[in-house]
Amino acid sequence: MQISQRISNITGGGSDGWDVFYKARRMIADGVPVTELTIGEHDIRTDPTILAAMDRAATGGHTGYAIVPGIQTLRDTVAARIQDRTGVPTTSRNILITPGGQSALFAAHMATCSPGGRALYIAPYYATYPGTIRGVGAIPVAIPTRAHEAFQPRAEDIAAEAAGASSLLINSPNNPTGVVYSRETLEGIAQTCREHDLWLISDEVYDTQVWQGEHISPRALPDMAKRTLVVGSMSKSHAMTGSRIGWICAPDEVIDHLANLATHTTYGVPGFIQDAAEYALTQGPDLEAKIAEPFRRRRALARDIIAGQNTVSLIPAQGAMYLMLDIRPTGLSGEDFANALLDTHHIAVMPGESFGKSAAGHIRVAMTVEDSKFTKSLQTLVTFAQTLAVPSANAS
Ligand code: PLP
Repeated sequence: MQISQRISNITGGGSDGWDVFYKARRMIADGVPVTELTIGEHDIRTDPTILAAMDRAATGGHTGYAIVPGIQTLRDTVAARIQDRTGVPTTSRNILITPGGQSALFAAHMATCSPGGRALYIAPYYATYPGTIRGVGAIPVAIPTRAHEAFQPRAEDIAAEAAGASSLLINSPNNPTGVVYSRETLEGIAQTCREHDLWLISDEVYDTQVWQGEHISPRALPDMAKRTLVVGSMSKSHAMTGSRIGWICAPDEVIDHLANLATHTTYGVPGFIQDAAEYALTQGPDLEAKIAEPFRRRRALARDIIAGQNTVSLIPAQGAMYLMLDIRPTGLSGEDFANALLDTHHIAVMPGESFGKSAAGHIRVAMTVEDSKFTKSLQTLVTFAQTLAVPSANAS
């Protein structure tokens, strides 16, 4: 039997970039004590008060089919939150509740890309981006960025690939780089989208984790609300990764089509999960700050460790739960460094190459273990890099 071309092509035929991660998991299964600084998952669980709200909703009977675009009160809450943060008039008509940010990314590309069309995204990128685009039958086109420019995209690089493209996907605060796009970067992106008539898909799932600078949603830039689809999620802001709940904020006509897509795919999100999300969002910024705090703290610890040597350098780390480290003075690729670190010190990090060529010679460190273990692991990593450092590269 023949499997469809579209689905068999999702990974593009190559490695999915997660080899080091899977190797670490195999070592753990064999009883090796590996410190995992790989995936973007908090070391705390969902807050007990959110779970209590979920329990109340489920035992209270909210276990049947929920209305497909999302329950009205949650759509209202998300719309009010977005309007508060951006100043852009937003109503529930602009909101579709989705089973997590990932399904929102897929749906957003379904809404904006035709089969065989070109869809742009910025490298380094969150690992699922190209596969998500292939999954809707479109062709992923990576726009490179440069480490020495802190991975901020250049408008002219986007414009150079814009002919025949229908969408551009961006992500700020960024996974994997930890960079927050500046107003200037976002204005350049917006201008390019307007000039080349591109939809802008803005993945803002880390918008509550900003350590330096400010998060600007491009939907708030002039004339952008009508061409922007914002992807949001409760996964990172409220440590609700396993609850699978997020949203798309878009023009109401787009939401109508997306609601049709949801009817024929997910059939919505469980009502008791939506009630828990609504409870969480109405607790105000203190709960979000509490959930983000460990990453703020560990970023400060990491900056001190990195400042004490000159082999490994840190890309600004303005937001999100990751550090992107430049390990090129060791003479190794990110992949070789990550493998060697895992083999010799049982510390697992992600090779930069997993996120595209732009991050070659870098590694991504997730700040997702408790502070003392994190500090010790990072110190070990840095000492290991120093022992490898090629003298001439180190001196430059
Ligand atoms: N976007 C980015 C940049 C991510 O890092 C992730 C998860 O790590 C997602 C989207 C998807 O998150 P979720 O589907 O859990 O909402």
